[in-house]
Amino acid sequence: MINVEGWVSKVPVLGDVVDLKPTVWVNPNKAENKDAWEKIDFTEKDIYEAEERLRRFAPLLMKYFEDTKESKGIIESPLRKVVNMEDALKKKSNLLGELFLKMDSHLAVAGSIKARGGIYEVLYYAEKLALENGLITIEDDYSKLANEKNREFFSKHTIQVGSTGNLGLSIGITSATLGFNVVVHMSSEAKEWKKELLRAKGATIVEYDGDFTTAVEQGRRLSDKDPNSYFIDDENSTTLFMGYAVAALRLKKQMEKLDIKVDKDNPAFFYIPCGVGGAPGGITFGLKKIFGDNAHVFFVEPTHVPSMLIGMATGLNDKVSVKDFEIDGKTEADGLAVGTPSKFVGALMETLLSGIFTIEDKELFNYMRELDRTEGIRIEPSACATFEGPVKLFEYDATKEYLKKNNLIDKLESINHIAWATGGNLVPDDIMENYLETYLD
Ligand SMILES: *Cc1c(COP(=O)(O)O)cnc(C)c1O
Repeated sequence: MINVEGWVSKVPVLGDVVDLKPTVWVNPNKAENKDAWEKIDFTEKDIYEAEERLRRFAPLLMKYFEDTKESKGIIESPLRKVVNMEDALKKKSNLLGELFLKMDSHLAVAGSIKARGGIYEVLYYAEKLALENGLITIEDDYSKLANEKNREFFSKHTIQVGSTGNLGLSIGITSATLGFNVVVHMSSEAKEWKKELLRAKGATIVEYDGDFTTAVEQGRRLSDKDPNSYFIDDENSTTLFMGYAVAALRLKKQMEKLDIKVDKDNPAFFYIPCGVGGAPGGITFGLKKIFGDNAHVFFVEPTHVPSMLIGMATGLNDKVSVKDFEIDGKTEADGLAVGTPSKFVGALMETLLSGIFTIEDKELFNYMRELDRTEGIRIEPSACATFEGPVKLFEYDATKEYLKKNNLIDKLESINHIAWATGGNLVPDDIMENYLETYLD
């Protein structure tokens, strides 16, 4: 049993969390320089290896996915300055500095951040099988994997995944396209249109009444029984994690192109919506490796599903769920509706992450309308959580204290805020229209 009152007196911010009040937890264990990396085994080499693997697959992706042709098989999203959104937010808050949007909402193939980790792990597994069975060598042009014989080989193998929606989309679409059988285990919150789209691609959908954690457990169990089945495990997978981390290498080049400096006088603040933690965790690992102490990374979670916040603030990580704190886990942000955080990300973030904001559902829709109105960009509710970061950074005492402690008070105007838009491009138009009408005051 979790002693909620005990935890609230130990970590006062948990009082707001239990009361479902939007708040911020600032990580007291964040470290700098070498100290930040002492307990972390992953290295920069792991990120470069993942990037190389993605490069080997570029010819195959280009062959299969029309929307990767222009970028020659590299799946990457634009980084865009959103000055109209910046102005709108500045009118309503104390925001200082410049605002950019990292548009993973518009990533090719899967239309969400899951196009990074999800696709990467499918490719990782496909390569492993193909090399072990002599279908290709590492020097080959991987577009060979699209021939009849090789597809026939993949069709004898199954890939399974448990998902709230977007991971299922990414893995379902990629696996089916490469020729694998694919089974997606989905929780009841998963949106109907996602299930339909997946069925249309040839995936099998298994639905569960319980939450995401149940779907993952069942999927893992069923997959383990079948020797020709591979389970992509959102709660445990370091492969997914490394696929996400590659984002940082690519972003560095994009920032250079836009002349965005990252140094002591020009800190970069990143805000990433968090579900189970794999995507924001992997990206944070990459960002901190590439930019070091001048990158400040915050996660954002719904007030009704602050699972990573509770896990990290108590240090119990995956041993605690929002239910233990009598929080219902219900949110319109289906991509973030994960009651128990990843088994390893919280511990890995202990010395890297700056903090975690929580946001009320109705604000997701207000930000969504604002971005649509000011920039003509449409992203899904989960993704809109990102804007709570730059807006509230200058509001909460805890984050003001953070800015002071990091000697940034005279540099506030030079902060570059990167809001990470995590999904939206595959949302059907009629559903997007409905979202734009949701929670209108
Ligand atoms: C999956 C997802 C996230 C968060 O990723 P996790 O790995 O679950 O933390 C954020 N936004 C969207 C739209 C997502 O689909």
